[in-house]
Amino acid sequence: MTDSSAQTTVTDPTQEVERICRDLIRIDSSNYGDGSGPGERACAEYVMEQLTEVGLDPFYAESEDKRANVSVRVEGSDRERPALVVHGHLDVVPADGGDWSVDPFSAEVKDGCIWGRGAVDMKDMDAMILANLRHLARTGTKPPRDVVFTFFADEEAGGVKGSSWMVDHHPELFEGASEAISEVGGYSVTIPRKDTGDQVRAYLLQTAEKGIAWLRLTAHGRAGHGSVPNDDNAIVHLAQAIERINAHKWPRTYIASVRELLDGLSSVTGTGYTDEDASELLEHIGGARGFVLGTLQDTSSFTMLDSGYKHNVIPQTASATLDCRYLPGHEDELMDTIRALAGDRVEVSVHHRDTALEAPFGSDLVDRMADALQAEDPGSLLLPYCLSAGTDNKALSRLGITGYGFAPLRLPADLDFVGMFHGIDERIPVDSLEFGTRVLQRLLATC
Ligand SMILES: [Zn+2]
Repeated sequence: MTDSSAQTTVTDPTQEVERICRDLIRIDSSNYGDGSGPGERACAEYVMEQLTEVGLDPFYAESEDKRANVSVRVEGSDRERPALVVHGHLDVVPADGGDWSVDPFSAEVKDGCIWGRGAVDMKDMDAMILANLRHLARTGTKPPRDVVFTFFADEEAGGVKGSSWMVDHHPELFEGASEAISEVGGYSVTIPRKDTGDQVRAYLLQTAEKGIAWLRLTAHGRAGHGSVPNDDNAIVHLAQAIERINAHKWPRTYIASVRELLDGLSSVTGTGYTDEDASELLEHIGGARGFVLGTLQDTSSFTMLDSGYKHNVIPQTASATLDCRYLPGHEDELMDTIRALAGDRVEVSVHHRDTALEAPFGSDLVDRMADALQAEDPGSLLLPYCLSAGTDNKALSRLGITGYGFAPLRLPADLDFVGMFHGIDERIPVDSLEFGTRVLQRLLATC
């Protein structure tokens, strides 16, 4: 090409990532989980416009009214190789503007950050993906292998109308794909180096995520008048089961991803940990500690209670909901434990369950991620970690696709990034967004 500098000016994806991120935040795609929100249609139509403008012909599908998904495959130079899926979700959790210091849908830029709902979860990564995809299309650049770029609906309500629906109804879009990247990982934490005390950035690659078991406990008893002594009270049976489950100490187990994270942090910082206690070590990773604490063992938390209808009537049933999260391979053990603790007066039923995932930290793709980060942030580290929650990678795993959380962001040491997931005053530094766009660009060129 004769005028490469002009071409670079036009097509550099970092130059439009801020605009795209702000555009996406301004489109309210709140997911209330009950079908009442605006849906993802407006957001998905925006994505379609951005893609058709650069000559792409994306696939668009609504699982139900306004619940929109978009996908487009970019052919790679070696079509024999298995494809890579790069995906993001278009919905966000709702925001109560009264709690925020800015309008959560204004995408205001102040203090070097873009503020708004979705700025970290995950319209930031959506924008990084879109800017890079537009760049590939405009320049006719082929990645080394096919890349399937997909934007899902409904992640914030479990993906039933998004990733899960797409995998069930349009598996052909992902044909031949072996790996995927998306949220929640790739962001930096700043840790002290032992001896020197220098600060070093460690990027946390999400290589695992816990499984979900949302259970309902229902106790049955004998109904009757509140004035008559009753030794078969459903509320009491339920309360006793709750007490037993709550008192249970889930055994600490470090899966490979967690063990490698702890070992990595320990060797850099010089702080030790034991099979029982990693608290001092985890102090080093600031807010990310919250994500990690839930991955040191299985967990169970009571979230809702329901029983009775009148002050002087002993009800026949009482129920509670329990949110259990299990480590890979622990599902049967967790269910057996809960059933045993619930006892024979309380029935345990499954409301929703989804699989736990663990991907290898040693793979070519992980090496390419490390290379891309090293090129943009020399001297940094890449460490694996397990996410205590779930992502759209669960649905893709049903097609045999190995998923990683890699939305690369170099973050200021004092920013509580993890605390902003679903939190108030969600914001992303523009500089971090541009950094991530460059890392993703390198990864797409070498994947
Ligand atoms: Zn998300």
